[in-house]
Amino acid sequence: MTKLPRQNELEAYLDEALPPDEMAQVEHALRQHPECIEQLGAINARRDAGIHTLGEIWRRHRLSCPSRHELGSYLLGGLPDELADHIAFHVDVVGCRMCRASLLDLEQRQSESPEVAETRRRKYFQSSAGYL
Ligand SMILES: [Zn+2]
Repeated sequence: MTKLPRQNELEAYLDEALPPDEMAQVEHALRQHPECIEQLGAINARRDAGIHTLGEIWRRHRLSCPSRHELGSYLLGGLPDELADHIAFHVDVVGCRMCRASLLDLEQRQSESPEVAETRRRKYFQSSAGYL
C-alpha cells in the first residue's frame, strides 16, 4: 500500500506544482485509494466556490516567486540566509517549475564569459520588458 497523499500534496497535484516523481506518486496513490479522488473533487468544488487558501493563491499567482535578479544572486551565494532559505524551499520543496527553469537558465548564463552574459542579459531585459 502506498501512503495516502496529504491535502497539500493533492492541491499541488491539481496545480501540477509537484516534481515529476511526486506527481507520479500521487497518481499511483490515487489509483489505490479511490477515496482520495473524492478529496480531489472536494478541493475542486471549494475552488469553484471561490474559497481560496493562502497556499492556493500563492501557487496560482506565484506571489512569492523570487525575481530573476534574486535567483541570480542566490546562485552566486549573495543573498541573506532568510531569503536564500525561502528560495531553496520554493524551488526544492514546492518545486516551482518556473523558478527551476530560470535557475537552470541562469546557471548556464553564469558559466559563460561575462561579456557574453552581459549582452544576453541586456537582450533578455529588452525582450522581457514588455511583460513587466
Ligand atoms: Zn517560483
